[in-house]
Amino acid sequence: MPGATIDLVREFGMQRARDIVNEKRADPKTIHMMDGTGCVLFRGSTNTDGYGQVWRKPNSRLHEEGRSAQAAVLLHRLAYVAQTGRNVQGHASHLCGRRSCFADGHIVDEDAVANNARKNCPGDIVCAWHHHVLVDQCKHSPKCIRPEREDVSCCLALKESDPNWESQEPPSGGPDPAEAESEPMDDVVSTAEESTVEDTGLREAGRRKGGSRPVILESSDD
Ligand SMILES: [Zn+2]
Ligand SMILES: [Zn+2]
Ligand SMILES: [Zn+2]
Repeated sequence: MPGATIDLVREFGMQRARDIVNEKRADPKTIHMMDGTGCVLFRGSTNTDGYGQVWRKPNSRLHEEGRSAQAAVLLHRLAYVAQTGRNVQGHASHLCGRRSCFADGHIVDEDAVANNARKNCPGDIVCAWHHHVLVDQCKHSPKCIRPEREDVSCCLALKESDPNWESQEPPSGGPDPAEAESEPMDDVVSTAEESTVEDTGLREAGRRKGGSRPVILESSDD
């Protein structure tokens, strides 16, 4: 791993690291995942292991001309420096398991055993409705980051999503006007069922953008 041997703190420093990382995060080829993980995936050059890399002149070679003065820098390691000001001493371990990710807080410095133990970890099973942990499946510290599942929710969510339940008012506010509009069209049974499923999806998506975030923030602080 050629990039791993560079002393990134000395050869780039926190400020240059930040500048490069921010520049690449703003690159249109970079993917900002919308799956609840907050992952930021680099879609540019990768090394043979699949880690994103950029080519830049280290501080000690800034005065030199031409491309030969540039070094391959692994973007996730640079992101760690940009956030912490420190070099990774052990493994630059991805909490999210995505090698091309260089999101803040997704890379931790830990030993090989801890890094390898994260492989195949399903992550905690979290209620898709309220984002609280239902089954504590991840024993790692800090917790692994995994995509939110759409198909799991607590029994309270079942009640809330049931239109016949008495106090069905959504926690994030009043009823959606679009939802009310779609109801008169429900005269065909199959269409009505389909639109109910779609509505539920829309409501969940809307709620996720809106108020019910505090639980997920709490767990990602670990
Ligand atoms: Zn990530
Ligand atoms: Zn885990
Ligand atoms: Zn719940």
